[in-house]
Amino acid sequence: MSSPHAVDHVIIGSGFAGLCAAIKLQEDGETDFVVLEKAGEVGGTWRDNTYPGAACDVPSQLYSYSFAEHDWPSSYSPQPDIQAYIQRVAAESGTLDRFAFDTPVTDAVWDASAQRWSVHTPAGVWTARFLVVAAGALEEPKVPDLPGLDTFQGHVFHSARWDHDVDLAGKRIAVIGTGASAIQIIPELQKALQPTGGHLDVYQRSAPWVIPRNDRAYSRLERLALRRVPGLRRLYRTGLYWSHEAYVPAFTLQPKIAAPARALALRNIEKGISDPVLRDKVTPRFAFGCKRVLRSNTYYPALAADNTEVITERISKVTGNAVVTEDGTEREVDVLVVATGFHTTDLPIAEHITGRSGRTLADTWRSAGMAAYKGTTVPGFPNLFMLVGPNTGQGHTSMIFIIESQVAYLRDALRTVRRRGLDAVEPTQEATDRWNRSLQRRMRHTVWTTGGCDSWYLDDHGRNTVLWPRTTADFRRRLASFDEEAYA
Ligand code: NAP
Repeated sequence: MSSPHAVDHVIIGSGFAGLCAAIKLQEDGETDFVVLEKAGEVGGTWRDNTYPGAACDVPSQLYSYSFAEHDWPSSYSPQPDIQAYIQRVAAESGTLDRFAFDTPVTDAVWDASAQRWSVHTPAGVWTARFLVVAAGALEEPKVPDLPGLDTFQGHVFHSARWDHDVDLAGKRIAVIGTGASAIQIIPELQKALQPTGGHLDVYQRSAPWVIPRNDRAYSRLERLALRRVPGLRRLYRTGLYWSHEAYVPAFTLQPKIAAPARALALRNIEKGISDPVLRDKVTPRFAFGCKRVLRSNTYYPALAADNTEVITERISKVTGNAVVTEDGTEREVDVLVVATGFHTTDLPIAEHITGRSGRTLADTWRSAGMAAYKGTTVPGFPNLFMLVGPNTGQGHTSMIFIIESQVAYLRDALRTVRRRGLDAVEPTQEATDRWNRSLQRRMRHTVWTTGGCDSWYLDDHGRNTVLWPRTTADFRRRLASFDEEAYA
């Protein structure tokens, strides 16, 4: 076996977070790093989700790096444009020579005697002082445990692993799930199936809140102005940022504030669907905001189309050629699209990271759920920095804002470690507990807890370990500088 490669930093993952870390480390002169990426190119979730209709429901001017501007053609971007943006930024950053593709991390173990991480991959071992985990929270598809699913003879695939080789023309297709991915897939499938005589079954377990998405192409003049007028793009981005941030009090303090947005969602149903029975079926039974609020102008018309059926009976099993619901109805199907989300509260990467005491992150979190200090560092895991870690998520604005805040914190931590000549840093248990106690106290009053829904934000203990319960501006402020006093 070849000897390990020694670097200062290993970054796991090359989505928006891993790439941001690589670029900013390089800016600071921390050039001795490797980015280990399991796939063959950059992009993370935007590389993997190629389903029909895949797009971002956060405006592109906001859903992009603050330091890498782009001439977006429209207000909301489809997946190919976002993936192309990530690829362009990566190529122009001059960091790609330190990316190892097709190199999945099998294990990362803290070696106390060497004060370094040992990171194992099928392509060899890297040792590093610092480990930046940017493996993403929407990475591992969650497939429901439906009896008979493995006996299905047709095509079956998860929304994040779309099989583009399957010809959908004239087929009977079933979509399981009505979350953020499904509501983008369903209109595209309905439209494609209509002229070919195909049929779409939508299996809805709980109806989501869906507000209109005011998508539009920018005019040539607007694009020119955004490119040329000094400060305009920044001003526009700032305006978008605060208009999205305005949702936070409704989610975290007083759900009644969301009444106008809730009314907008109800009008969206009325506008898209005329049948009162179907309207009733798709009207959410939980508070606005309890699950991620979705955006679409085309979802409800697609549900109302002649070639679509919305099924709310629970699925009891799947047979060789059909989906069977609890009322005994059997609906034949050729293609089964499983749009049932991701492992979010049991991050798969956590099984593969072993800290100071020989326990993995997953073991550490098993009894009480995921918890980190500032969503970034974890006691017992020296020199480990997680991007998009526990309680850093949010559904109302751009995740890239959170990522950039965490990377700023990482940079300041590295500066501190260098300046102070420290070997390793890890947060104290006390600081971590204090952080999480305050966060969970706040969480009790949010609509995600009180709103009457069971969402993927909640773990097996019923704790919300996914979302950040304050404004993202507040998050940025709290991570603005590395707070040595919270560290050992
Ligand atoms: P999701 O939001 O978790 O939705 C999963 C759907 O599958 C839900 O409707 C869920 O029903 C249903 N489901 C799960 N297990 C089921 C079962 N056993 N039987 C029947 N139905 C089942 O997953 P997603 O749509 O893939 O989205 C995940 C996240 O990705 C989003 O919340 C968002 O953060 C991100 N995303 C973002 C965008 C964007 O535009 N920015 C687009 C796509 C995805 P219940 O609601 O009843 O649990």
